[in-house]
Amino acid sequence: MPHRILALPLGPIQTNCYLVADVEARAAVVIDPGDEAGRVLDVLRKNAWDLQYILLTHAHFDHIGAVAAIAADRRAPLALHPLDMPLLRAGGGARLFGLDIPTPPEPDVLLEAGQVLTCGALTFLVLHVPGHTPGHVAFYCPQAGAVFSGDVLFQDGIGRTDLPGGDYATLMHSLKAVLLQLPPETVVYSGHGPATTLAAEQQGNPFLAD
Ligand SMILES: [Zn+2]
Ligand SMILES: [Zn+2]
Repeated sequence: MPHRILALPLGPIQTNCYLVADVEARAAVVIDPGDEAGRVLDVLRKNAWDLQYILLTHAHFDHIGAVAAIAADRRAPLALHPLDMPLLRAGGGARLFGLDIPTPPEPDVLLEAGQVLTCGALTFLVLHVPGHTPGHVAFYCPQAGAVFSGDVLFQDGIGRTDLPGGDYATLMHSLKAVLLQLPPETVVYSGHGPATTLAAEQQGNPFLAD
């Protein structure tokens, strides 16, 4: 089944928003719409994709800034892990950075580890990977051989753990006991920067060297 993955770096920090679609079913999910809702909605409209879910890896402001506008335009359910609810209600911590974002609605779906969400013939397995934030999740799509890792793992880097709710030991456990248990050829679509693979990071990422 043909699928498409589009990366849209949005907003002042160029946070990666991903649109993942089952092209035949014309069904898509959006992951981490951080800003510039109009660009996301344009892509959905131009492709005539029906939005199935708004998925959040975590509730930092740079990943949720366009949620309010997209949820107002589309009826797609918003999904977040409950441990990031306080962060969502606090505007993603934007005020810490002297910023403000439109208040997102309350989530419709509370995510938990092992849950599977469907979009046409695509499935998204929820992995709970705390450490950057307490309710951080990653979405593994086996049909695409892809994991959407938010701010847990980057090319040559890992998520920061100095923000409220962050914890380094927890993050390392999430990386090694959860994320790196996926097939090594899995493509990693990060919240910031270019895509990579788990194998490349296991070999070259200085934070993952034993
Ligand atoms: Zn973050
Ligand atoms: Zn981020």
